[in-house]
Amino acid sequence: MPMRELGPIVVLVHVVSFCLGCIVGSFLNVVVWRVPRGESLLSPPSHCPNCGHEIRPWENIPIISWLCLRARCSSCGQPISIRYPLGEGATGILFWLVALAALRRNLPLAWLPGAFYLTGSLLAASLIDLKHRLIPNLITYSGLVVSIVLALLIPQSRIGVFSGDVVVSGGLLVHSAIHGLAGEFQADLFQMPAVLAMLDWVLGAALGFGILGSFSFLGTKVFKSPLMGLGDAKLLAMIGGFLGADAVLFTTLFGSLTGLIFGLVRRYAFRSSDLSVAFGPFLSLGAFVWILFGGSVWDVFHKVF
Ligand SMILES: [Zn+2]
Repeated sequence: MPMRELGPIVVLVHVVSFCLGCIVGSFLNVVVWRVPRGESLLSPPSHCPNCGHEIRPWENIPIISWLCLRARCSSCGQPISIRYPLGEGATGILFWLVALAALRRNLPLAWLPGAFYLTGSLLAASLIDLKHRLIPNLITYSGLVVSIVLALLIPQSRIGVFSGDVVVSGGLLVHSAIHGLAGEFQADLFQMPAVLAMLDWVLGAALGFGILGSFSFLGTKVFKSPLMGLGDAKLLAMIGGFLGADAVLFTTLFGSLTGLIFGLVRRYAFRSSDLSVAFGPFLSLGAFVWILFGGSVWDVFHKVF
């Protein structure tokens, strides 16, 4: 169902998306801390690092509990870092922006779960990459699995696959691939949204991994040094899995340009000797811009360049 048909209950979308974001943010706080340290996400349950006091459910309500507890452990009084409510609030705002984009672009409601999942994954991957210079496989592999399951079970979650006119989320690239591959079977193919969605998924994920994976391979073979890790290639594959091939092209372009500008500004304006740049956050930002604006970003791109 397109979002504009929701009528008065649309206000629920705003409230629910923000609250859902805060709850997911609370979980992401745990992911960002534990996953790069190789710790389990399930056990032990959340506890005070100082006295071991186990966090009870009412002490775990995003933002509100931190305020009610006045930022201190209820057992030993040890201060609780502000990064917890900040992570929760930031994820809440990002989810709300995603819901706003879905309303503005009049996307189907089925688009939201994948967009939320990808947004949470991008945020966690970026924070971990900034601090630890790695992107955990747990995030990218699980994202690839979730996106393929969504493509198979809810093909409508991929923009336009559901419509008879077929404007697939991979856009032009997928269109030409379908025309090339399917030939006279095109009409039949368009009656099978799950097959179309799968094709869209495969092209997006393969292009994502291929672009940065080949850079990594070339770096090792030609320059005898890995120019970038495979973590970035897997991240871009996950982005392609959710958003399709066109998004991969935009994300690569956006990530490279903003990453380059950041590196140059840091080098020449702040005289930093550190030449390496964590690429994950720039790719993630590019993918998030695509989530918010979709293919219309190309119009802006064309005007600027
Ligand atoms: Zn304590």
